[in-house]
Amino acid sequence: MSHERFHLVLQSSRMVTPRVRQLNFRREDGKPFDYVPGQFITLHLPSQDKELRRSYSIAGIHGETTEAQIAVTYVEGGRATKLLFALQPGERVEATGPFGKFVLRDDPPGRFLLVATGTGIAPYRAMLPQLRARLQGGQHQAVLLLGVRAPDELLFGEDFMGFAQDNPAFRFIASYSRQLPEPPLAHARKGYVQEHLMELSPDPQRDIVYLCGNPEMIDAAVASLKAVGFENHNLRREKYVSSN
Ligand SMILES: Cc1cc2nc3c(=O)[nH]c(=O)nc-3n(C[C@H](O)[C@H](O)[C@H](O)COP(=O)(O)OP(=O)(O)OC[C@H]3O[C@@H](n4cnc5c(N)ncnc54)[C@H](O)[C@@H]3O)c2cc1C
Repeated sequence: MSHERFHLVLQSSRMVTPRVRQLNFRREDGKPFDYVPGQFITLHLPSQDKELRRSYSIAGIHGETTEAQIAVTYVEGGRATKLLFALQPGERVEATGPFGKFVLRDDPPGRFLLVATGTGIAPYRAMLPQLRARLQGGQHQAVLLLGVRAPDELLFGEDFMGFAQDNPAFRFIASYSRQLPEPPLAHARKGYVQEHLMELSPDPQRDIVYLCGNPEMIDAAVASLKAVGFENHNLRREKYVSSN
């Protein structure tokens, strides 16, 4: 874990859904930016009274990019949101990291249940090459469940649908809480991601569950999973909360 501070310079950005902006950075000092898929970086942003510390999962597909890519949800009135949505190419931010233990481990054969809401999908996108290697080994399966409100919020959906086509041991399910896609698509379910997770009959003897994003979703899912026998060793969580 590195606490060294460095500057990241924005290379490019784009809106990837109506409420999510992807920001692609490089280190200003020219050093490579590397990370273990699933980790996050912390940005140290200027604010009137004190520095804001805000963490963002690294969204770049590991091995396919040397940029530090993040996906930021627009939060109404959010202080970091305001700064990050206004940031222009060539401008820089201070950062530390990467940090975090929300990563794939050398688990015994079984099924990964990867659950996310919104930008909580980012760590799983970073993990795609690692997941491919695990699944091709023949001893693992994975189901990814992404919770969004409506079809236009399906962040990085094409990456996961394409991955599912190429990898028979991988399944992608999107839970739409407000509006289903029209015409209906095979991956689409109406409702909340934690309901669809429990419909997969999670089994503490076989499954490892990763949960990332909205803290309320994670608490609700963990309560349901503990009720069927899951314990901390087969539950991995990354809650998206503001630090200060
Ligand atoms: C390990 C980690 C990884 C994270 N990764 C990501 C990521 O990849 N992408 C991402 O967008 N965010 C991520 N977050 C959340 C991020 O760090 C900020 O909390 C978020 O961007 C809001 O910061 P802000 O300063 O704009 O809002 P603030 O000024 O902190 O909050 C403004 C108001 O909005 C509320 N609020 C804060 N966040 C949300 C939210 N998500 N939805 C609705 N209301 C909210 C607050 O309670 C407050 O009332 C992560 C957090 C952690 C701890």
